[in-house]
Amino acid sequence: MKDSRQTKSFPASSRDKILPSKGRPDLWQQQLVAARSATENTPLKESGVSLYVHFPYCQSKCRYCDFNSYAWTGQNMEAYVDAVLQEARSVAKELLPQTVFIGGGTPSLLSPQLLDRLLRGLADISGFVHSSKETTLEANPESFSREKASLAKDLGITRISLGIQSLRQEVLQAYDRVHDPEQALKALDAAQEVGFAHCNADLIFAFPGQNPEHWWQDLHTVLASGIDHLSAYELSYEPGTALTRLNQAGRWPAENPDHCQALFEGTRQACHQAGFGGYEVSNFAKSGAACLHNLVYWRSHSYVGLGAGAHSWYQGNRVQNLPSPEDYLATIQNRGQAIQEKQRPSPGTLLFEILMMGLRLPHEGVNLDRAEKLTELDALEYFGDPLSSLLDRKWLCLETGSQKERYLRATETGFLLLDEILLQLLPDDSNSPARKAQ
Ligand code: SF4
Repeated sequence: MKDSRQTKSFPASSRDKILPSKGRPDLWQQQLVAARSATENTPLKESGVSLYVHFPYCQSKCRYCDFNSYAWTGQNMEAYVDAVLQEARSVAKELLPQTVFIGGGTPSLLSPQLLDRLLRGLADISGFVHSSKETTLEANPESFSREKASLAKDLGITRISLGIQSLRQEVLQAYDRVHDPEQALKALDAAQEVGFAHCNADLIFAFPGQNPEHWWQDLHTVLASGIDHLSAYELSYEPGTALTRLNQAGRWPAENPDHCQALFEGTRQACHQAGFGGYEVSNFAKSGAACLHNLVYWRSHSYVGLGAGAHSWYQGNRVQNLPSPEDYLATIQNRGQAIQEKQRPSPGTLLFEILMMGLRLPHEGVNLDRAEKLTELDALEYFGDPLSSLLDRKWLCLETGSQKERYLRATETGFLLLDEILLQLLPDDSNSPARKAQ
């Protein structure tokens, strides 16, 4: 499974080759309308808080994965579930979260008994069954059956997110995934047969040397499978992964950037044609089906994280738990919490983070007035010349909302250059206003 906070950008040198407005000047506007439709009627409160629960074990470790996840080799899952519930009693009692996300790792690896124990326990402690507008369970095809889907639904799960990644056996094997294409399609069916109205599939594109036709076939099959949400990520070579080691040894050379750009833009267009609005760099949803929990991250609303390595952003503090499940367990059992780091970000850091997350939403962008309330910094003054220059180059634009609030958004060109935009807003010059305020 991929991280909703992953960034995506392409080299400035080749952006002109892939701008869809070339020959279709209306397409970007149509995509923005579809993105708005994906997020309309999303009942999130700015003052609300969300709950994330991390389950760190997987059946095996995928080659490309740099998440805090570990191959399960007999570790005590029951003790882990009990530790999460103990932590919940410390930090999430009567939290009444507006969304819940049980992620990993592979939470569907839990036995029915432990899934029951975890979800009933969380419901008793946090009250989520009454408050949550969306409760997602991440699952992988090899550990997701019709029976487990049915149990999850009975226990308050409202949305399933399935790690499909590819429908090609050779690609799944190369990734060291443990499921096959048939299991992937069965898992998609199982979720819908038991009545989940909200179902996401994760896919990865730009497998080295893959015939592009195979990607388009996979994409169309998954889009037509009855899901209402798709996350499509480019294969990335993260430090420390088996994939990167192979790449450095001369195997698995990355696809060239032009090809990746063409796949990215073609994917956006295919999703658009299938009725899925691209409301975030890598995320596409039918009308009203955007992932509420991930919108909480992109809009910089509050969330509490439970479990090994989980992050929280709550009451002005950023907290990260100990990443190792063993350390997490031992520390929770002794102290009830397992905090590795707790920080109150400086106003400048917070403002930068708000921009970094919000610019990923092409139709929303960043509400600068809300950002100013949170940080007491005016973004236009704070970022000064670098931001003016991005506005002049039309990589960013300023718009006014219905309440006269100011929004900063990426333009069609800028949307493909988000990493570069962020680099310009945080230059490594220690005299820059952005640096000084941190
Ligand atoms: S299933 Fe694979 S990609 Fe997902 S968290 Fe586990 S190891 Fe990582």
